[in-house]
Amino acid sequence: MPDILNAATADHYAAAVGAVVERLADRFASTAQPFSGASRAELQALVDAVDLDGAAIGTAEALREIDDLFVQHAVWFHDPAYLAHLNTPVAVPAVAAEAILAALNPSLDTYDQSTVGTLMERRLVEWTAERLGFAGGDGVFTSGGTLSNLQALLLAREAAVAGARETLGLGRSEAIGRLVVLATDSSHFSVQKSALLLGLADDAVELVPVDDEGRMRPSELAAAVAGLVAAGRLPMAVVATAGTTDRGRIDPLEAIADVCDAEDIWLHVDAAYGCGLLVSPTRRHLLAGIERSRSVTVDFHKSFFQPVSSSAIVVREPADLASIAWHADYLNPLENAEPNQVDKSLQTTRRFDALKLWATLRALGADGIGARFDRVIELAADVRRSVEASDDLELVGGSDLSTVLFRYAPAGCPAAESDRLVALIRRVLFESGRAHVAKTVIAGRPCLKLTLLNPETTREQIEAVLDLVRAAGAALRDAEHLDEASDDGLAFATRAGFTTEAAR
Ligand SMILES: *Cc1c(COP(=O)(O)O)cnc(C)c1O
Repeated sequence: MPDILNAATADHYAAAVGAVVERLADRFASTAQPFSGASRAELQALVDAVDLDGAAIGTAEALREIDDLFVQHAVWFHDPAYLAHLNTPVAVPAVAAEAILAALNPSLDTYDQSTVGTLMERRLVEWTAERLGFAGGDGVFTSGGTLSNLQALLLAREAAVAGARETLGLGRSEAIGRLVVLATDSSHFSVQKSALLLGLADDAVELVPVDDEGRMRPSELAAAVAGLVAAGRLPMAVVATAGTTDRGRIDPLEAIADVCDAEDIWLHVDAAYGCGLLVSPTRRHLLAGIERSRSVTVDFHKSFFQPVSSSAIVVREPADLASIAWHADYLNPLENAEPNQVDKSLQTTRRFDALKLWATLRALGADGIGARFDRVIELAADVRRSVEASDDLELVGGSDLSTVLFRYAPAGCPAAESDRLVALIRRVLFESGRAHVAKTVIAGRPCLKLTLLNPETTREQIEAVLDLVRAAGAALRDAEHLDEASDDGLAFATRAGFTTEAAR
């Protein structure tokens, strides 16, 4: 088998991977927009044209085909006009470390499959815990913030069930039926999904009122807890968000921790986005109080410039992780003295994602990563000021992190039309391939959203995207009878009068 990586195929491996890397390097050097702009129909035809039952074409040809099919039409997060979601351009040392993972294919479930890898992951978990202020804390890497939040809420549920048994003599299912998680409407939707997966009651997620910027109001939290307790419910956890997905706002952690301490409620901080502040040379104080939580979600693939996937759940008390340990005779028997990370994880076979963070920390230094996160926060503040000063764009609120929310609203454009244009502008830009912006809804009204995570992007490059927004908005206002349901993006953009230099 010449295509299985082993001693005899080491040269073949180097040639195959080398060719891929060279082609990618060429594309990185020459790609000029975030997306090719190909329509969904064109892409579907390309996918359908490949005969998966066809004769073998060999490694080199298969990879060349992928270059045409996938790489050519991929979304380039490093492009300065990619400003949509929480995707980060990736650090070179992390990408190189990913190549090591792909070749060695270690699994971090047991020590006997990973040896020093397990020790390196543990060291990075300890490092993260120290940064959080959890001296002696513990945790484990996960596939993402969604899984980290699920695991945190599972641990909280188990603690609450144990508490209800001890203090109220309740059985498991009776306790679970009474549990409530307190969050806000700005919390990530994985909180709601987790509640469903954890078998909690339909009304188990209570949304605490927020201030004008979407931050949880601690006084409302205290009132909500009091109301729940009076009604015989059991507050199981409070989820505070350190960096809400849309507005990049940080809930008031100290005041929320005060409420949780007073009522002995598990505080989980979802810092999937804001975790980059842990290494910020100038903004670490924005996370003050996070050390009073019992569990924290960090997404290194959001603000540490890591390739997907790289996330962790970190707990203040190592014993809190024990409630999910299961033992299998063939894998991690109870009497085994080896450090088996599977005891702490919801996953079994698990990637050694920690290696990428390790490489990045060593290569750039913690301050180097933090300075880059600071840079995107500062850039976002500059862009917000520019939007605010502009007479045809309307800024929608502020941010503690790196998002910019706004609408196209030239003089004389009614609010309802500004709202309608949000989705159309996003679509015209996306389908032209020239810029990627996101859209969301704030206080019941749609708005455009920029998420800045590229420390190399300049203010001028973002101004150029704002000009594209203006051009698309103006063209859409002039255009009549737009077929919004059209599948053919380029035709849509063209009908909207949005001429694309890059149009083929
Ligand atoms: C992105 C995000 C998540 C989910 O993380 P994934 O890595 O996408 O699973 C959770 N919480 C917040 C606040 C996020 O921004």
